[in-house]
Amino acid sequence: MRLSSALARLYRFAADPWYPLLLLWCRAAGSAPLWRRYQRRARRAGLDRLYLVLSFDCDTRKDAQVVERLDERLRNMGARPVYAVPGRLLEADGPVYQRLAKRGAEFINHGFAEHTFYDACRRVHASCFFYDQQPRQVVRQDIEQGQQAVTDLLGISPQGFRAPHFGTFRTPAQLRFVHRILGELGCRFSSSTLPYQAFARAPLFADYGVVEIPVSGMGDAPLAILDSWSCFAAPNRRLTAEDYLRQAERAAGRYRRIGAGVLNYYVDPLHVHDQEAFFRAVAVWLRIATPVTYGELLAATGGVCAVS
Ligand SMILES: [Zn+2]
Repeated sequence: MRLSSALARLYRFAADPWYPLLLLWCRAAGSAPLWRRYQRRARRAGLDRLYLVLSFDCDTRKDAQVVERLDERLRNMGARPVYAVPGRLLEADGPVYQRLAKRGAEFINHGFAEHTFYDACRRVHASCFFYDQQPRQVVRQDIEQGQQAVTDLLGISPQGFRAPHFGTFRTPAQLRFVHRILGELGCRFSSSTLPYQAFARAPLFADYGVVEIPVSGMGDAPLAILDSWSCFAAPNRRLTAEDYLRQAERAAGRYRRIGAGVLNYYVDPLHVHDQEAFFRAVAVWLRIATPVTYGELLAATGGVCAVS
């Protein structure tokens, strides 16, 4: 490990020790105590049942080619899809996203710059534009321009935000910085944090400014994100579509037993539009949880947020 990455890890640990502590706790005692903590914190956050939020990060132009059919199928199943599209891609594929907005889809600010590119050598989409590698002024500008793009192109003032690349801009100081900007822009929530935050703090919490709604994890590894890249798209991936469904079912079993919380799952449309395992996972979640957008979730919880 290079010294710089070791120091970066040490800094992250010192700034927010919750993730390694919860991981150790989970390894030592299993995940049951973790879920009991989640249940207590969910009740305190005003949750009296299970809610399902399905969100879709549209990070490439290929997502725009498949997203409308995906949206239609999910709506027919009863889901309430939410979309996070960088402003630059909203400009490029405006008519697609305008049609989705007309159907009543919720859109959140996902910054302005593109944060993936096509790596022709590896023949795969790769990540770029990480907020933690940018000057603060560039991050601020990207959030402000993303907000403006949604407003200008869709005629909607977005109420929420998702930072590019989960888990790379996550120290309390970084989150406070982002939340302060979101407050200035009139946003009410962000969904940019990893699953451990739901266990450390709550499924909805306002420790950093506006409401933060962490994404959800796997049934067998609740601190690990359940995402479409790892199971459906990553080159040399170890997980499969069957793993996605299995982890979704096991997570559903956990949530059903505790009876209150937020199943907050996100995927990329391109990864899942033709994957039956994904649609079966959604069907499982819909059997136990009320489908809502983020805005509807906030309305249902009456704006009550746990502050740790
Ligand atoms: Zn993204």
